[in-house]
Amino acid sequence: MNGLFDLHTHSSRSFDNKRGPSIEEIARRASEIGLTGIAITDHDILPPLKELESLSEAFDILIFPGCEITTDKGHIIAIGPLKELPPSHNIQSVLSFLKTKNILVIAAHPFDKKYGIGDYIRELPIHAIEVNGRRAHRTNQEAKRIANELAIPLVGGSDAHQIDQLGSIVTRLKKNVETVTDLINCVEHGETSVSSVRSRTRFSLSS
Ligand SMILES: [Zn+2]
Ligand SMILES: [Zn+2]
Repeated sequence: MNGLFDLHTHSSRSFDNKRGPSIEEIARRASEIGLTGIAITDHDILPPLKELESLSEAFDILIFPGCEITTDKGHIIAIGPLKELPPSHNIQSVLSFLKTKNILVIAAHPFDKKYGIGDYIRELPIHAIEVNGRRAHRTNQEAKRIANELAIPLVGGSDAHQIDQLGSIVTRLKKNVETVTDLINCVEHGETSVSSVRSRTRFSLSS
């Protein structure tokens, strides 16, 4: 399916989000607001593959398994069927670990002072740079600038920790995508743009 994907979402499985939504609630809302798909990217915890598959069927949306991995230089979004976490927080070894596993690697909120990998983007093999729904306009502008300079594709993710944040920033995929391999191909060929669905959601909820 092509369409709108929120590639950065957190459920209550994230250590910093115990009062957050369940994955089922995220999937339901994603379907309600018209997203084609989402990635569940809880912090440093393996995705529950079986649950994601059954929710994908139940709500008729694509659900990519993912993880937001903490490295010694900042946060990395890894999208794909991870079966184990990287053995070290060293960013070089995290990236070489992911490289062998058909995983899409995104620099999450790269210019967040505390949790972004910042200028390390220049030295590291990543697939995409994120525009983030919970970060300041200025840091997202910086992300766009470096993506443009280095010709690295941009993707969007809401980084939603609460259900009403879902879809604030999303990725439009211009090619048909069914699998993580399709997703990687689509991103690698720059067939993406960054968009938002939140305003449309608010409108439709109030009507
Ligand atoms: Zn983060
Ligand atoms: Zn996050």
